[in-house]
Amino acid sequence: MTAPRLPLTLLLAVTSLLSACRSDPAAPTPARTDTRLSVPATPTPTEATATPKLTDLTATYPGGTQPRTLALDKSVPLILVHGLGGWGRDEGLGLRYWGGLLDVQADLRAQGYTVYTASLGPVSSNWDRAAELYAQIRGGCVDYGAAHAQTHGHAQKDTKKCYAGFYPGWDATRPVNLLGHSMGGQTARLLVKLLDDGDAANRASGGLFSGGRAGWVRSVMTVSSPNSGSPAADTLQDAIPMFKNLILAFASSVGGLDPENFVYDFDLNQWGLSRAAGESFTSYNTRVFNSGIWKSRDQAAYDLSVDGSAALNTYVGRSRTTKYFSWETNATSPGLLSGWHYPNLTMNAVLSPIAYPYAWPLKPGLGNIGGRSPGGIGYDSSWWANDGIVPNRSMNAPLGQSSAAYTGQLTAPGGWYRLGRVDGYDHIDITGNLSFRDVKAFYRHQAAFLAGQ
Ligand SMILES: [Zn+2]
Repeated sequence: MTAPRLPLTLLLAVTSLLSACRSDPAAPTPARTDTRLSVPATPTPTEATATPKLTDLTATYPGGTQPRTLALDKSVPLILVHGLGGWGRDEGLGLRYWGGLLDVQADLRAQGYTVYTASLGPVSSNWDRAAELYAQIRGGCVDYGAAHAQTHGHAQKDTKKCYAGFYPGWDATRPVNLLGHSMGGQTARLLVKLLDDGDAANRASGGLFSGGRAGWVRSVMTVSSPNSGSPAADTLQDAIPMFKNLILAFASSVGGLDPENFVYDFDLNQWGLSRAAGESFTSYNTRVFNSGIWKSRDQAAYDLSVDGSAALNTYVGRSRTTKYFSWETNATSPGLLSGWHYPNLTMNAVLSPIAYPYAWPLKPGLGNIGGRSPGGIGYDSSWWANDGIVPNRSMNAPLGQSSAAYTGQLTAPGGWYRLGRVDGYDHIDITGNLSFRDVKAFYRHQAAFLAGQ
């Protein structure tokens, strides 16, 4: 992971120089001049931190209890919806988004579940991703809606994105379950909204935007989803290098293969950003991140920001015919004096600079985020615990929406149930795709839970 580490190393160098003034953010002292080049991989906290907790994935039953029901309906399709930077099964040169070198989809199928893996725009907006998810499940070509396309200046349809459909018979009597990691949870919730109600401005385009499809999604389960956004995506200046590093890390982790030949598609044909024949991955990656899509709000950075997520939540609301479930991941521990949250040593090197609490004059990281979002949403210490990229408080029901801890009770459509927290797993660990942890047990438990709902 040479490429993404270079800028991070510089950042960490600055941080280590400033470690002396970390204990009191309100009264900073000038950084001392220090030209040492030896920089630890992770800055050493100047205060003791609480012992990190580590969850045993074999015990990750929702609510902490093994499902009571033996009548699992494994025929309801479970659709895995990836997050930011994710990719499909025909990309990544054998590295699975869901499982890494292992294969969560194949494992669940071997257990008798009907499982499919969606492949959506990795840096596209939730709107575009929801339109793509609809076409992939039902079959047909992607239609982003005429009014939406005109507003944002991209093509309405993409004839390269046409699908046979995972489940062409999909309707209210034959519903699906959606399990979204990270941004995939937001995408799943938006799809439910469009299925239920359509969209007034785009109704003339028909299809998904005509609505009237309540009950087509039985349950949405969000895993590590920024349901209220992440301050890490509040500004493009921060978000774009972060996205780029994340995707470079995926490319670099594909064994000893040449990252230049990384099989990866940004799925941005609607913006005219297809990968040219023979184009290297680096050139393609750079072209996408230098492109004009970032001037629009129709892209992932805005949707993942706290303000963008708040706008999405206002629009999406909650369906009365779908059950909502959420899991949190956490990979930080509080400092015993400051209460700031420090990344655990196991946190991925791409994530820990985002999670780290920084002292003045650096901008605070997630571990000691303060101030307000550009739109005025305030951050207090309840935003500090995080999984490297998303604060824990954002991983459950959107701010202002009701939710209940799941303890084995009967669940009802329209309800939101918090299933638990996986400790010692960062945002990417829970997919298994960069840290190569075996996450099969976690997804087996979730598939069983959804099949019993
Ligand atoms: Zn769009």
